[in-house]
Amino acid sequence: MTEGILTTAYIAASILFILALGGLSHQETARRGNIYGIIGMAIALIAVIASEFVTNYAILAVCIAIAAVIGIYVARRVQMTQMPELVAILHSFVGLAAVLIGFASYLDPTTHFEGPDAEVAKTIHEVEIYLGVLIGAVTFTGSVIAFGKLSARISSKPLALPARHWLNLGLGLICIWLGVLFVGAEEHSGFLPLLIMTLIAFAFGVHMVMAIGGADMPVVISMLNSYSGWAAAATGFMLSNDLLIVTGALVGSSGAILSYIMCRAMNRKFLAVIAGGFGTAGGTTAAGGDQGEVVAVSADETAALLKDAKRVIIVPGYGMAVAQAQHVINDITRKLRDQGVEVRFAIHPVAGRMPGHMNVLLAEAKVPYDIVMEMDEINEDFPDTDAVLVIGANDIVNPSAQIDPSSPIAGMPVLEVWKAKTVVVMKRSMATGYAGVQNPLFFEDNTRMLFGDAKASVDAILASV
Ligand code: NDP
Repeated sequence: MTEGILTTAYIAASILFILALGGLSHQETARRGNIYGIIGMAIALIAVIASEFVTNYAILAVCIAIAAVIGIYVARRVQMTQMPELVAILHSFVGLAAVLIGFASYLDPTTHFEGPDAEVAKTIHEVEIYLGVLIGAVTFTGSVIAFGKLSARISSKPLALPARHWLNLGLGLICIWLGVLFVGAEEHSGFLPLLIMTLIAFAFGVHMVMAIGGADMPVVISMLNSYSGWAAAATGFMLSNDLLIVTGALVGSSGAILSYIMCRAMNRKFLAVIAGGFGTAGGTTAAGGDQGEVVAVSADETAALLKDAKRVIIVPGYGMAVAQAQHVINDITRKLRDQGVEVRFAIHPVAGRMPGHMNVLLAEAKVPYDIVMEMDEINEDFPDTDAVLVIGANDIVNPSAQIDPSSPIAGMPVLEVWKAKTVVVMKRSMATGYAGVQNPLFFEDNTRMLFGDAKASVDAILASV
């Protein structure tokens, strides 16, 4: 393949990736966005495979075959509820790849810099390696811990080491010092500083994510998404691959924008997040204890309430994903709308376990896009709503975010469902949500609890509406 064709393929793939991102920003165009992304990736892969960069097709074929088998196996087995942790572990692979490529580039015996600018070129190459390995190592271990937290293998409670900000600062300064040693070192003698920095960055990734409280995890997920992009871009610099640089920068910057959006949704400061100084300074204990009596309700009574209502808002949360209740919820919605009831959905930005989680599920169930509203669009409508159906949501409808400054979720904007005439909360028990905080909503006079698996409950409601 000639240089010209390769460049053209890279440009085409880059444009398709940009179109993919544009498409993914709206539900209506998300499917198209995915297709653009798939075509772009296919072009990129074919172009790289056909280029002169690949010299050993046998090794490549074996690697692709192994990866394809693992990828197909994992993709077939993974449940929708396991998607967030799958995404986290995939981010960790990008980080690990950056670390390995960084070491391989540094140790590559064929790398030589000649000519008048040899010293400058060598320094630039070493800075690329150092930064790539640093970002990659933090992304790798941070993502592994995020995987553990999302899959409940590690407690979602934050680990608050004493003086942890000083510890982070100290580690950061040591990494800068090691960087100076690395870049100034003679040929290949910078291996030790590079290795020590890698170990420190591994530890930093673990510490950074361990220190994050449950409810702040969405910010971490989107930040790791961004880091994985920058790690890929750094790999692109190391390998002098323009497409990897562009693609990595696209992922890095879109992840950064998503982090900003998540910060706003959680009411956290972006700069504090970037500095790793966020979390749950205000305490981590659940506001448990005796908060009063709850009133249980049956599925039949809930169906009657919905049929009598003029305006209904459905608030889905993580439990809807666990129960896979979205299809039946769509059937209930259709039936109620046929009977003249106005039904809309309220989506909190951090509902579920990954950005856009609820939108994906509702789109899968073919809920019309025009009745799926973002929190800001619908939060003021609760006082005029007759019935709210909270299905497997907890933290995102917890009023203690507004009334209890010591709560781990204090300050987080929530859906103000308690302002509606009647609220029915569907969950299996009185257990807390991801943030581990008890929810005063359950004890409000206008709240009714419909206990049981959400799928069984919505099946029973559907039979009666
Ligand atoms: P929560 O985790 O707060 O609550 C989910 C509720 O669903 C639980 O209280 C549980 O109660 C109930 N539930 C679970 N399974 C079922 C079932 N089969 N049937 C009925 N109910 C069920 O979820 P929310 O969506 O309200 O809030 C999301 C939380 O996750 C926030 O704290 C957010 O910060 C965090 N998070 C979000 C991420 C994102 O990107 N969106 C990423 C990481 C974390 P019970 O056990 O009693 O049934």
